[in-house]
Amino acid sequence: MIEVVNITRTYQIGESPVNALNGVSLKIGQGEFIAIMGASGSGKSSLMHILGLLDVPDTGQYRLMGREVSGMSEDELASVRNNVAGFVFQQFHLLARMSTIDNVMLPCIYSGKMGDFRQDALQRLEMVGLSHRASHRPNQMSGGEQQRVAIARALIRDPMIIFADEPTGNLDTKNSHEIMRILTELHKKGKTIIMVTHEADIAEYADRIITMKDGVILDDRRKSDAPSPQRASEATLDVAHLPLLQPARMMGFVVQAFQSIVSNKIRTLLSVLGILVGVASVIAMMALGAGARSSMEEQLKSMGSNLLSLRGGSARIGHAAQGSGTFTRFTEKDAESIAEIPELVKYVSGDVTGSGQMVYLDKNWSSNVEGVDFDFGKMRAAEPKVGRWFTREEIQTRDKVAIIGTTVASQLFGDTNPIDKTIKINRINFTVIGIAPAKGFNGPRDQDDIVLVPLTTAMYRVLGKDYLDGIFVEVSSSANLEPAKQAIDALIRKRHKLAANDQDSFNIRDMTQFQQMLSATTQTMSTLLGSIAAISLVVGGIGIMNIMLVSVTERTREIGLRKAIGARKGDIMMQFIIESVGMTLTGGIIGVIVGVGVSVLLSTFAGWAVKTSVLSVMIATSFSVLIGLFFGLWPAQKAAGLKPVEALRYE
Ligand code: ADP
Ligand code: MG
Repeated sequence: MIEVVNITRTYQIGESPVNALNGVSLKIGQGEFIAIMGASGSGKSSLMHILGLLDVPDTGQYRLMGREVSGMSEDELASVRNNVAGFVFQQFHLLARMSTIDNVMLPCIYSGKMGDFRQDALQRLEMVGLSHRASHRPNQMSGGEQQRVAIARALIRDPMIIFADEPTGNLDTKNSHEIMRILTELHKKGKTIIMVTHEADIAEYADRIITMKDGVILDDRRKSDAPSPQRASEATLDVAHLPLLQPARMMGFVVQAFQSIVSNKIRTLLSVLGILVGVASVIAMMALGAGARSSMEEQLKSMGSNLLSLRGGSARIGHAAQGSGTFTRFTEKDAESIAEIPELVKYVSGDVTGSGQMVYLDKNWSSNVEGVDFDFGKMRAAEPKVGRWFTREEIQTRDKVAIIGTTVASQLFGDTNPIDKTIKINRINFTVIGIAPAKGFNGPRDQDDIVLVPLTTAMYRVLGKDYLDGIFVEVSSSANLEPAKQAIDALIRKRHKLAANDQDSFNIRDMTQFQQMLSATTQTMSTLLGSIAAISLVVGGIGIMNIMLVSVTERTREIGLRKAIGARKGDIMMQFIIESVGMTLTGGIIGVIVGVGVSVLLSTFAGWAVKTSVLSVMIATSFSVLIGLFFGLWPAQKAAGLKPVEALRYE
């Protein structure tokens, strides 16, 4: 079944080449039990690696079950190893983070076969007398037991050939003979066994002993009582070509990635910290941004889109009261004459603001006082649902009536009904006639911390102003917005005798300008936050790449073992990519939880408007996946490129 002709293998160590095999020719029949003996460095392992398809010869032919091996690709060799070869190594090479039974089942994942292999694995463990240890970890077992598990693993795919490189090298005499008893048993059942050893009493178990020296076969001796190898039904070799993206395989990788993440909890957590912070800040910031935007939009909507606001000073920020040097102070007469503009104007209200000290019984609260005209309620959606709006008479006669915001109501009255109660505003008695509808926060400003009083009362009794701070105008329709603006502009210029080119003493804004300003600020904010998040995600990604590179180095021998039992390049690559994505996704999910938690805390304790969106969660999660893919790629490639023999030798 095995035939090699004149094979050589030379290793390059620095400058000087080492000829490990110097022309070895050998035939091995099906069902033979062969021991390869020789001093250390004589080329035994090199020969076995080539026979086991873990390595390829530099020159010479190798026919396995009638097929020339030298033309096969790496992936084909892996598939052949998975199907026809079982390996037992001196160092056992069990994976410590998996249970015994999972170690035994490991080769199945690369077989491309679906199904549950637990039963098969248990049966193999039974064969080596360890079925009662199925759920133990390898490090809870003695060396002899571990090697028996390794034999069970070598048997799981029912291979025709067992390759054993110094299987008893790390074991005491009693355990060594136990292992040999198992191998002999397997030989009796028809397995071909090729074993490397340097101990004569171990070699005695075999039927045929090949002795090597300096890379050549010195002696090839069959024991006299050994049965001659059957030549009858030689099996032929099929090479399976399996697709990489098989569901069973992928599931297996996901489970293994999960095991690896779970077995390194602290390390995973630390290495995904960057991702976690990045994702959490994206979520929290997006929630804050969306909250601020929606509360502002809400407010704009309640103001009505046809609203104009007149203020003294320049429209350009930071240029107030420059230019001509005047700062227009509007009067009640200005408001009245704007109201008289025909057709264009629907409502007008003058506006003054200031601060006031509110007192009710023993409660004290300093708040904002806003004086407003009759139409303000309709224009700004300020008409109370509890209580009533001012009457025209109350406004004309400077009555001492007040409509309080919800914050003021709760501060002064708690649970008592404030309507018809008397409060003091700056030491003047007012009767509360209503509670203004709640408007929430505008950024950090509480819009419900306010007391509305009639415009005239505010000007002449509370704040002592004989001018208006501003005028609100509601235009009859949005089409009239521009004409109304021009008409008001002309009117104010005429009334205040301003030059036509005087730009800076007052300004008229409409809500579209507010909206533009708003979207400009949110744009800046999102860009800023976006770049902070991007930086932390990139830093987090580099952290992941670093830890994955460490992990690849640490697990070099594991990679070697996986390749030996049939993992192809793509399989190893896939496994490490899934692992790195698993890590970043873990970080991402924790980050989402933290981000949502922070948003909730901000809204409950600081009262900020927040709005977590499913979109932001999805964006953040998919970003963490992309980062895992991107930064996992190079380490995965590095792992996949390792040569099986070198990886197995790695100390
Ligand atoms: P044995 O198993 O009989 O002890 P090996 O086949 O492992 O011998 O090694 C044969 C020779 O090849 C030794 O001199 C060893 O140092 C050398 N050798 C084996 N593998 C490598 C390698 N990967 N790189 C360099 N030299 C190697
Ligand atoms: Mg060796």
